[in-house]
Amino acid sequence: MTATMDAETTESFQSLSPATGEIVGEHPVHGKEAVDAAIERARDAAVWWAGLGWKERRVRLLNVKGALTRSLNRVATLIHRETGKPIEDAQLEVVLAITHLDWAARKAEKVLGPRRLFPGLLSINQKAVLEYQPLGVVGVIGPWNYPLFTPMGSIGYALAAGNAVVFKPSEYTPGVATLLAEIVASIVPEQPVLQVVTGFGETGAALAGGAVDKIAFTGSTPTARKVMAACAERLTPIVAECGGKDAFIVDADADVDGAADAALWGAMSNAGQTCVGVERVYVVDSVYETFVDRLTEQARALRPGEDRGASYGPITMPGQLGIIKRHIDDAVAQGGKAVVGGPSSVKEPYVEPVILLDVPDDSSAVCEETFGPTITVHRVKSVDEAVARANATPYGLAGTIFSGSRSAAMNAARRLRSGMTSINGVIAFAAIPALPFGGVGDSGFGRIHGADGLREFARAKSITRQRFSSMNLTSFQRSDKDMARALQLVNLLHGKRYK
Ligand code: NDP
Repeated sequence: MTATMDAETTESFQSLSPATGEIVGEHPVHGKEAVDAAIERARDAAVWWAGLGWKERRVRLLNVKGALTRSLNRVATLIHRETGKPIEDAQLEVVLAITHLDWAARKAEKVLGPRRLFPGLLSINQKAVLEYQPLGVVGVIGPWNYPLFTPMGSIGYALAAGNAVVFKPSEYTPGVATLLAEIVASIVPEQPVLQVVTGFGETGAALAGGAVDKIAFTGSTPTARKVMAACAERLTPIVAECGGKDAFIVDADADVDGAADAALWGAMSNAGQTCVGVERVYVVDSVYETFVDRLTEQARALRPGEDRGASYGPITMPGQLGIIKRHIDDAVAQGGKAVVGGPSSVKEPYVEPVILLDVPDDSSAVCEETFGPTITVHRVKSVDEAVARANATPYGLAGTIFSGSRSAAMNAARRLRSGMTSINGVIAFAAIPALPFGGVGDSGFGRIHGADGLREFARAKSITRQRFSSMNLTSFQRSDKDMARALQLVNLLHGKRYK
């Protein structure tokens, strides 16, 4: 359900198709009062939802998944209209969200439910129980580039962990969020376990500064800093998924055709508006020319547009066009060579594919997140050099390695300073719900997806129960005999020499 408009919420805004400019929907601008009211309602909903228990929550969430699956085309059409991405890409986005919700619903009890742990010989008279309890109310601040899949990485996992959620979608994609909340409410009508508050940055700021128990933020690094500062007031913890400047490395023995195909899709699909999209490609000298030939040949065949045959859609956020243009201009001004497209490729609202070679490492096209269908390709002597240059950025979200050697690829993957790396495929980790997703450095911290993603929305609770009395060491009545026995046991257990 959307937060009901209170007396203060009289303003509204429209979401528009970035391709055609047509009005897709009209939504309220929720101010601080409305956001606080939503959080308060969520507080009751959280208690009720947590009280349902693992089994009932699992059934409800699997039914939400079922309803989402049956609404796949409706949801995908709305994603297509609000973001401009091709309908098939929108359908794939819904499929990914479904897969994650399914995993979170099925695994929550196993990952978070009570388990007995070995208490250690010194505490052998105790039963030790660990369980992960819900935090309460989770505030989710989402982006527009994957308006369903990305927030589902927080919403689905937070709900599965037993929390209620208040979701502030991007101002560009409020309709998708509202539809998701309606689907959840159709399966969970009793309490508003997922509410949506719509509006602009101020609405997000009200949520971050509100009485929530955690904020899950996806967006830019500068906004993450603002959100974190707002959270600091109440010591609200935050998980932050910010952008990246992901590298793609091609080794001398790689399948060059496969690498070119994957790099192109990773860079240009969704018009390059993907946080884990390919931005910089480092190719080992001996295969550089062949790779560039294959890449440019395929890139020339791509066409942005609104129709079904288009390779990708428009730039969703109009303000982004200027940034893309600035990066291309800077690359060319600094001696970079545009072998596909160039500064004239930015044709509002679309950007045609741009491939840039020989761009200096300090150009904004190499340093800053571009969020457009552009790619810089760099010649390197070795994978070692590629890894060093890939790591020379404050970002550290994901990356890719194409190599003919399993061990060399694994080795390089481990050395990439990032949260995720795909070998001989691109962005493969995002479709595997068991794998945690998140970055390091300016790309953020904390994890969504996987068991870590479930634990992100829960707090560990430790419980001991004394089963029988044994050495009584935590008492003023402690006897010399108990102390001597304890020291003897410690000596036996820990006093040996290790090789
Ligand atoms: P922002 O970081 O500005 O916005 C992300 C979300 O935060 C939106 O829902 C936004 O609401 C909200 N928000 C904005 N200001 C505040 C605030 N002060 N307090 C709380 N929430 C706030 O990203 P943009 O959408 O403006 O995109 C800018 C750039 O960020 C992109 O070009 C890209 O480089 C990067 N980005 C990265 C993403 C990723 O997947 N990691 C996703 C989106 C963007 P509203 O939209 O209403 O302003």
